[in-house]
Amino acid sequence: MAYSYDPQNIFARILRGEIPNKTVLETPHTLAFHDIAPQAPVHVLVIPKGPYVTYDHFARDASEAEIVDFHRAVAQICAMTGVQPGEGGEGFRAITNAGTHGVQEVPHFHLHILGGRVMGRMVAKAE
Ligand code: 5GP
Repeated sequence: MAYSYDPQNIFARILRGEIPNKTVLETPHTLAFHDIAPQAPVHVLVIPKGPYVTYDHFARDASEAEIVDFHRAVAQICAMTGVQPGEGGEGFRAITNAGTHGVQEVPHFHLHILGGRVMGRMVAKAE
C-alpha cells in the first residue's frame, strides 16, 4: 500500500516556517528541534525535510544523501546534547513511533532523542 503524506501535519508546517520551533541543528536534508512537551531533560526531535510518514517509509524511499544526512545529524545531536556514552555522556534512548500500534501522533517521520535521566522500561504495558 502506498504511503499518503499529509502536508498539513504539524512538522510539515514547522518545516515551512508557519509554526516556530526551537532549532538545535539544521542541515541540508534534516531539522532537529526541542520537543514542545519534553519527557526528559534532553528531548530532541530529528526529522527529515522530505515528506516521509514513518521510519520504514524513509528507509525505503529516501535518497542515500537524505539517509546519510539524517543519521549524521543524529550523531551531531548526541554530541551537542552531551549524551554520547562513548564520549563521557550517560547515554540516551532513540525512539520512533509508527502508525496505530506505534502510537504515532504526528504523521511525519521523526526520531526522539531522549536523555539526561535514566529512561526506565523500554516499552510500557498496553493500557
Ligand atoms: P509521536 O507521538 O508522533 O512519536 O511524537 C510527537 C511528538 O511531537 C510529541 O512528543 C509532541 O510533544 C511533539 N510535538 C507535537 N506538536 C509539536 C509542536 O508544535 N512543536 C514541537 N516542538 N513538538 C511538538
